[in-house]
Amino acid sequence: MINKKEQTLVIIKPDGVQRGLIGEIIKRYEKSGLKLTGLKIVIPTNKLIESHYLVDLNWKTKVGEKSIEAYKKKGLISPSENPIEIGDRVLNNLKKYLTSGPIIAMVWEGMNAIAIIRKITGGTEPLVSDVGTIRGDLTIDSYEVADSDGRAVRNLIHASGSAEESEKEIALWFNKNEILSYRLVSESILYDVNLDGILE
Ligand code: GDP
Ligand code: MG
Repeated sequence: MINKKEQTLVIIKPDGVQRGLIGEIIKRYEKSGLKLTGLKIVIPTNKLIESHYLVDLNWKTKVGEKSIEAYKKKGLISPSENPIEIGDRVLNNLKKYLTSGPIIAMVWEGMNAIAIIRKITGGTEPLVSDVGTIRGDLTIDSYEVADSDGRAVRNLIHASGSAEESEKEIALWFNKNEILSYRLVSESILYDVNLDGILE
């Protein structure tokens, strides 16, 4: 059964807040038809960032493998061939990046919310993220520059990667009573089987 109330966690990272892109970013998600059910501005702690990325026990390996692959694809040499070592380094850099100032944490809800939000957000590395996506249109960073400067790739957004990730991440960032249950009038046109309330 397709979950028409799928939830996903989105974070506007400190670069998005500092560059005055909060409104532009929310506008892009809002126009999709998904519903905003939770929203807050916070300065996260190191502990929260570590728990957040380690909700997926394989995250370090996956991040490392993705990074090595991105270097290969461009014909460049990765600074390390060991995925876990890369994962450790990226996590340390992410702590510095994400605790450097306020961030916006949001919950978006609706049919295919996780995949739709990832599509609008774009791929991890802004240099090659698709045009039309938030990361592809609104910023400029690359693995190569970020790694050689010893910092995390600044790509404006975090968005949950799977249902398992989103469930654990939302529980970390939000109390149950901070996520609202309500109806948007526009939902009829997205979800109702019979469009029989339109004509007078
Ligand atoms: P996402 O799900 O697209 O955000 O990507 P990941 O979960 O794989 O990585 C988390 C975050 O770590 C990314 O959004 C980047 O900010 C950063 N990051 C990932 N891989 C690398 C890397 O190889 N080098 C550097 N410097 N930063 C990285
Ligand atoms: Mg991720």
